[in-house]
Amino acid sequence: MRKNIVAGNWKMNTTVPEGVQLAKDVCEAVAAAGELKCDVIMGVPFTHLTAVCETIGTANVGLAAQNCADHTSGAYTGEVSAPMVASTGAGYVILGHSERRGYYNETAEMLKEKVDLALANGLKVIFCCGESLEERENGTFKDVIAAEIRDSLFHLSAEQFKEIVIAYEPIWAIGTGKTATSDQAQEIHAFIRGLLTEQFGAQVADDTTILYGGSCKPSNAPELFAKPDIDGGLIGGASLKAADFMGIVTAF
Ligand code: PEP
Repeated sequence: MRKNIVAGNWKMNTTVPEGVQLAKDVCEAVAAAGELKCDVIMGVPFTHLTAVCETIGTANVGLAAQNCADHTSGAYTGEVSAPMVASTGAGYVILGHSERRGYYNETAEMLKEKVDLALANGLKVIFCCGESLEERENGTFKDVIAAEIRDSLFHLSAEQFKEIVIAYEPIWAIGTGKTATSDQAQEIHAFIRGLLTEQFGAQVADDTTILYGGSCKPSNAPELFAKPDIDGGLIGGASLKAADFMGIVTAF
């Protein structure tokens, strides 16, 4: 049985004290909400990981980094490795976000290394994929998504793939207020599950959590999450206010 997940991606927002306060607000809201139908994860800046991990304490909330290096250690000034992330207590790392692919030139090959290092260090991976507006409009979007998944993840064994969560995030919907319709998102989620079935078999594909990301908010989450292949969301802007984030968490 696959898990439903709602994961926040705080991106480069909040100072450490502000982040600790936000984490506290989310943990308190999760505790007050009682039994939830999804796992809740906060994806925070590197600088916040240790403090937010302490803040989470025994609360039922997971912690993710937003990136990790494609090397384990050494002379890579400014980089943060998978073992470093794991040592903070984080259980997840977001990899392949379109902002990292686009602004920092992360290639499929680099992401493959990052995925391997994350898994080798006990981190689960939230792996992002998604097409640009141009690719959506010129009809190549399915090829683009398939290539992103294939080129960085299809070297894994079926056993390793159990530690992967996929996040489909159409670039044209990220931070733009334009959400993919629930039918557009469902079509791609089903397409991705089909790719996973071909590569890893029906059981692994069926057990894989596939999140939607892109201007997801409390008002559109219920319709998106009602679709059979949409297992939750990766949430940017709306994860920065505990009330908005919880409005999505409770949409299931
Ligand atoms: C994201 O960047 O992962 C994201 C989904 O952003 P937003 O929700 O702000 O569109």
